[in-house]
Amino acid sequence: MNVRVLGAASEVGRSGFLVKCDRTNILLDYGVMFAKRRDDQPLYPLHITPKDVDAAIITHAHLDHSGCVPSLFIGGNTHVYATPPTHDLSILLIEDMLKIEKNKHSFDYRHVNSMIKNSKEIGFREPVKTGNATFELRSSGHVIGGSTVLVESEGKRLFYTGDINLRGSRMLPKADLDIGDIDLLITESTYSQTNQTPQHESEKGLIEFTNEVMDRKGILFIPSFSVERSQEIACVLKNANFQHPVIMDGMALKVNDIMFRYPEYLKNINIFSDAINHAFLVRNHGDRKKALSQPCVVISPAGMLVGGNAVYYLQELALDEKNGIAMVSYQGEGTPGRKLLETGIISARGKDTKVKATVKQFQFSGHADRDSLFDMIKNISGNPKVLTVHGDDKSCIKFAEEIHEKFGLDAHTPKLGEQISV
Ligand SMILES: [Zn+2]
Ligand SMILES: [Zn+2]
Repeated sequence: MNVRVLGAASEVGRSGFLVKCDRTNILLDYGVMFAKRRDDQPLYPLHITPKDVDAAIITHAHLDHSGCVPSLFIGGNTHVYATPPTHDLSILLIEDMLKIEKNKHSFDYRHVNSMIKNSKEIGFREPVKTGNATFELRSSGHVIGGSTVLVESEGKRLFYTGDINLRGSRMLPKADLDIGDIDLLITESTYSQTNQTPQHESEKGLIEFTNEVMDRKGILFIPSFSVERSQEIACVLKNANFQHPVIMDGMALKVNDIMFRYPEYLKNINIFSDAINHAFLVRNHGDRKKALSQPCVVISPAGMLVGGNAVYYLQELALDEKNGIAMVSYQGEGTPGRKLLETGIISARGKDTKVKATVKQFQFSGHADRDSLFDMIKNISGNPKVLTVHGDDKSCIKFAEEIHEKFGLDAHTPKLGEQISV
């Protein structure tokens, strides 16, 4: 078994790994990495010829794992495997990306349609045989329908974590790690060097802040990723028996609809449906204006304040000291969200403006943190070779060194294009 690293080498973005099992080639993820600067092109994983791919697997819908799959249908064809929620959410996010980044991509809606036609939906723990290899998806706990992948061929077993959450969340069960002996482990490293605030502390902080803002008759704006985080925050508020209106806006609503279709992928559909049915869902601009007439919480993308309705809410809410802004999503470098946290400044109508609303950050994450990642490695049986990917340079390299020191495993951080055999 041989793996070629096509992306996510010492970086978060454009995940892609080509697994070659003698005559059968399996592609694990094929995502994009967004450009740091607005005018730059997005980065893709290394090119592969679609006819060389027997099966392309999407672990989950986030665009750094799914966004480049349509490119496999430019003058070619392959089969795309994913769980039903991953399939639906990937299409939603890819089409949205094409709408926002017109003409920036080498593919268009036609290729997305070919992708839909060639998709094969599979559930967790449903083995699929292709050529001389078998693969199966396992629950990753990261987003609804999100999976890890087990590939088996000629007596060798590979485990790819994709993005993994070993603790689960209010909505999702934790990752399924009952995977047997492994020969090659490809693990994410995003938070290998940091521990996260325990979920209950983050929740407590957020609820306290929410109540403070309500007490002074303000509005709390929570910019949030449309997949998972928006719904999770709604669940947190519902669980705390929050009495003021909760407004949800933007693409999170389409994500809600998809999630309602797949209750079997949630820990408990009632937790989710109670939260969403309790919320006021903004369907048009009239709703949006009306929503802001009283103290309330607004949950809306974009999580990093890049576009979306976030721009509208910032303009309406940021300049009033009664209001609050709770940052609950990861803030990428160079994003307006990061700038707001570091300087207290937003760019509105082309000029920089100091925000008067109180801004606070709360840590919520769909990824395993440092302790969880080491727990996972400790509990994996066999004597696997380990590849640390999907993290910045330091998180990947240090993680590999520590895995070697603590567990004596052959661990390293692969370079882009590197091939590893077991
Ligand atoms: Zn992800
Ligand atoms: Zn990712």
